[in-house]
Amino acid sequence: MDLFEYQARDLFERHDVPVLRGIVATTPEEARRAAEELGTNVVVVKAQVKVGGRGKAGGVKLARSPEEAEQHARAILGMDIKGHTVNTVMIAEGADIADEYYFSLLLDRANRTYLAMFSLEGGVEIETLAEERPEALIRVAVDPRTGLDESVARRIAEEADFPVELRDQFVNVLVTLGDVYREADATLVEVNPLVKTGDGRIIALDGKVTLDDNADFRHPDRAELVDEAAIDPLELRAAEKHLNYVKLDGEVGIIGNGAGLVMSTLDVVAYAGEDLPGTPTPANFLDIGGGASAQVMADGLDIILSDPKVEAVFVNVFGGITACSEVAKGIRGALEQLGDKASKPIVVRLDGNAVEVGREILTEYDHPLVTVVETMDEAARTAAERASEALSSSSTSGRN
Ligand code: GDP
Ligand code: MN
Repeated sequence: MDLFEYQARDLFERHDVPVLRGIVATTPEEARRAAEELGTNVVVVKAQVKVGGRGKAGGVKLARSPEEAEQHARAILGMDIKGHTVNTVMIAEGADIADEYYFSLLLDRANRTYLAMFSLEGGVEIETLAEERPEALIRVAVDPRTGLDESVARRIAEEADFPVELRDQFVNVLVTLGDVYREADATLVEVNPLVKTGDGRIIALDGKVTLDDNADFRHPDRAELVDEAAIDPLELRAAEKHLNYVKLDGEVGIIGNGAGLVMSTLDVVAYAGEDLPGTPTPANFLDIGGGASAQVMADGLDIILSDPKVEAVFVNVFGGITACSEVAKGIRGALEQLGDKASKPIVVRLDGNAVEVGREILTEYDHPLVTVVETMDEAARTAAERASEALSSSSTSGRN
């Protein structure tokens, strides 16, 4: 999960990284009051979106009075920055910047280490810096067992030829950023710019933090950091039901057991739809895992059928530990539970453990929406065709 800048700022503050005060606001009036509360000569109004280059896009503006902060907030709130709508601004104390540096610590998967990067030439985007002045960007591999400790920080300072009189302070700041990285289970901590102020203080003026979701269990308070406004409502509902669901853009709903099978099902369906009218594609990824109970099947079907774009559903199950007979009962139970909510054709392909009994249960059930097909390719084609037919008939009738 990526954090907003203000969340990164709060996290930094808790780990004693030097930051300036900041107050979030969602209306221009709140922004004015925040600026009054900060009471500094200059405040900065900063768009809170999870994307870089806000400054260039006009999402970071200095204000010399609370009224000016209000005006800037009015302009920035609602702004679109690289496809992200600004719903929140942070009003931060203005900094008197003498120098801008770049710092980041990140997970280097390929080399199985952490990687610290630093440049005395910060403030510009890292991609630009790495391309135009690669020699100005210092890279130091950091052993995950020690993390970014004092000796690593000293090495960075030396390699960068960091101003000697500020070195101790610099080393301390880097160590606190290393603490943030370790204690928050982050995969990225980036500060651009890390600044030197006119009076010789080193301060993290911007913060970009990515937390490792695999470590959520160690951080029970983390749920409140989630930006629910940015999550697809169906994905949110699926997460509440503990379903492994990812919304996609197409018309064929997909349910399968096992991530590998579901991934290949997506491919097969996309391929089957390629030459059909309306070119139907997969509507989602949904892995119901090993124990495909009626409840899980019902929850999954319910989510998929709530997607207004879905025109057909493909249930693709390979019975391993879970017998196909159980899966068939699951589908039957789900359809009974859903009643009229189940309104789209459902193509079922079962194979593996107890497949004969499974197919028999569905044949006997004889639900008008359910078609049982033997092979995965044929089932994918059937599901794509059903979706294609629906797409064609809706476009000829003038709806869409
Ligand atoms: P980004 O463009 O999304 O990376 O947003 P930043 O928070 O990094 O801000 C962009 C630029 O605005 C910084 O590199 C600074 O040059 C400038 N800036 C940000 N805060 C202040 C401040 O308090 N005072 C001054 N003078 N400039 C600032
Ligand atoms: Mn920045």
